[in-house]
Amino acid sequence: MKELKDFKEEIHNCSKCGMCQSVCPVYKATGSDCAVSKGQFIMLKGVINGDLKMTKTINRYLSLCLKCGKCSEYCPSGIDVVDIISVAKYEYFKTHFLEKIISLIQKYVVFGLFPHLISFFRPKIKSKKLDKKVIYFGGCSSKYTGNNSVIKLLNNIGIEVITPDFTCCGIPFFVRGDIKNFQDYMNKYIKILKHYDIKEVVTTCASCEKTIKDYIKWCEEKDKEFLSGVNVRNIFEYLRENNAKLRLKKPVKVTYHRPCNQSNFDDIKYILTSTENLEYIEADNYDKCCGLNGIFKPKEYPIISKITNFKRNSIISTGAKYVLTSCFGCEIALNSYSLWKYKTKNLIEFLAENLESSI
Ligand code: SF4
Ligand code: SF4
Repeated sequence: MKELKDFKEEIHNCSKCGMCQSVCPVYKATGSDCAVSKGQFIMLKGVINGDLKMTKTINRYLSLCLKCGKCSEYCPSGIDVVDIISVAKYEYFKTHFLEKIISLIQKYVVFGLFPHLISFFRPKIKSKKLDKKVIYFGGCSSKYTGNNSVIKLLNNIGIEVITPDFTCCGIPFFVRGDIKNFQDYMNKYIKILKHYDIKEVVTTCASCEKTIKDYIKWCEEKDKEFLSGVNVRNIFEYLRENNAKLRLKKPVKVTYHRPCNQSNFDDIKYILTSTENLEYIEADNYDKCCGLNGIFKPKEYPIISKITNFKRNSIISTGAKYVLTSCFGCEIALNSYSLWKYKTKNLIEFLAENLESSI
């Protein structure tokens, strides 16, 4: 397991240029140097050198980071900030009982009992048997919303869908600094993937997609070769590649929130602009963070509300009835502060519910 000291060189590579400050939503909301990667790296350097202890105050600054990764996109030193901050949080996590209790609730209730209970009452359809096969990594959202829309859409373009029992990809644990539980999920799924002789994995959630692609960075040496042969793709890439022709039953005006973890926005935009009867209005800040990592921290509400108000207003100003997205976490966040001014839907669910013909 990687430790904070393993990132000493990367942290040292920070040139203090301040580019991260110009894009960090938390820095914009707080103006605090300690809330953005540049300042956090100065603190973490002190922790690695033994000059500072990983205190509650440092952990609070690390927790303010929304893990949006915007700073890394602009960092001239190419530093993966989210990885470093998550591993740094593990230094605090491993010695704090309350953090472990929260993780247990997350593991056994939020991503264990609840999703399984809900999915038990959902009608399920079976995939057709077809020559081309993919494994669907549904993540926790598929337990709440079902796999049916994915099966219908992919069967329609000639692809059979295998649906093993995947629950959480592990990202909620990773960003809280619970690297141990994250790796437990990852190792379980690597075992499941090895069991099937299928190297194509499809996801509908941008965060699951990024996390599974990143498994190769965190897995044991013996699994690296296997994972390098696994092709993880978002369902929208398949739909675009297969020239899926989509038409809604009636005209609807929508906007779209691009999750921070989404790498394939061109494919999404293709679906949004080519689907008949779908009017897509791009919001000014369509690619700015939804604030999810902060909205569940009531103590930080004054900071987070600045970020979420900004996001809500840009959605409302489009006049769209729906804001669509493709990350279950973003969906929860956008919904939580909508004030009933718009409806939030997962893009794939929205399509499945509104397409004209039986897809
Ligand atoms: S953009 Fe990168 S190199 Fe520049 S201050 Fe931020 S973390 Fe350091
Ligand atoms: S990941 Fe996002 S919130 Fe965190 S320091 Fe970078 S820009 Fe700021």
